[in-house]
Amino acid sequence: MNIFHKYIPDFSLIFSINFRKNMPELPEVETVVGFIKPEIVGKTIMSVVPQNGYDKVLATHDPAKFFTLVNSKSISDVSRRGKYIVIHLQKGFLLIHLRMTGRLLFELSQNDKPKHLTTIINFDDGTQLYFKDYRKFGRLYYFDTLDPINQKLGIEPLSPDFTDNWLIDRLEVSKRQLKPLLLDQKFIAGLGNIYVDEALWSAKLHPQQLGSTVSPAKARVLHNSIQALLRKAIENQGTTIINFYFGEGKSGNFREQLQVFNRQDKKCLRCNEKIIKIRVAQRGTHICPKCQKL
Ligand SMILES: [Zn+2]
Repeated sequence: MNIFHKYIPDFSLIFSINFRKNMPELPEVETVVGFIKPEIVGKTIMSVVPQNGYDKVLATHDPAKFFTLVNSKSISDVSRRGKYIVIHLQKGFLLIHLRMTGRLLFELSQNDKPKHLTTIINFDDGTQLYFKDYRKFGRLYYFDTLDPINQKLGIEPLSPDFTDNWLIDRLEVSKRQLKPLLLDQKFIAGLGNIYVDEALWSAKLHPQQLGSTVSPAKARVLHNSIQALLRKAIENQGTTIINFYFGEGKSGNFREQLQVFNRQDKKCLRCNEKIIKIRVAQRGTHICPKCQKL
């Protein structure tokens, strides 16, 4: 019965079916952090072992060097920065980026093929954390400090620093289109294709509108939409967007909760106009042509 035992959200399943070009975003990564944190804080890493000869899963160092940096280090905390899982070691940080199909498991089932494993992390109490990654784009990183990551990433959208005035000031001077701007991890960290489409629909803004043409009142609405969407998704453990299984086989209802993403040809839930899919910044983009006018 208990086939889902210690099951970490199964992004690979859903991303391989419906969301091929979308990766876990802030709420999904936050959910994974919530799952692994109570299991691994206090443990000591014995070894990090790339699988199937896939040494390049270690993005920052060759395996021998990586081992000297993380082996025998205890884990004091687990947090999130952008879409990175940040494992705090007694010295330094081990980061994991799931990319498109990466998935963390404490136990393997018969469906988990060894050839899809890219890394196993062994702990001092004999337990393991398996990194399964069908597409193998996920990576592990070691950094002494978080400076290299902080330099690459912009503001955290749920931090106190992300105020409506912060967004108003930045949009006012931006000549970029809203969609690529919001997707830019250097601008705001953690948003991806799904949440950006949802936030722009919610704020009734066209993804190709230039930042500088957004009124302060509209920027305020967008700010609120971004935060409300992210908070709601985290509350639902990412299930507003991603249909994954966890715990006692609970699964999400993401399809019912998406307002615009992946709803092309269906009716806008606000005005009944037909949702269309366009291309903006090389990304499939879903809009209501009536609610979101350029
Ligand atoms: Zn509409």
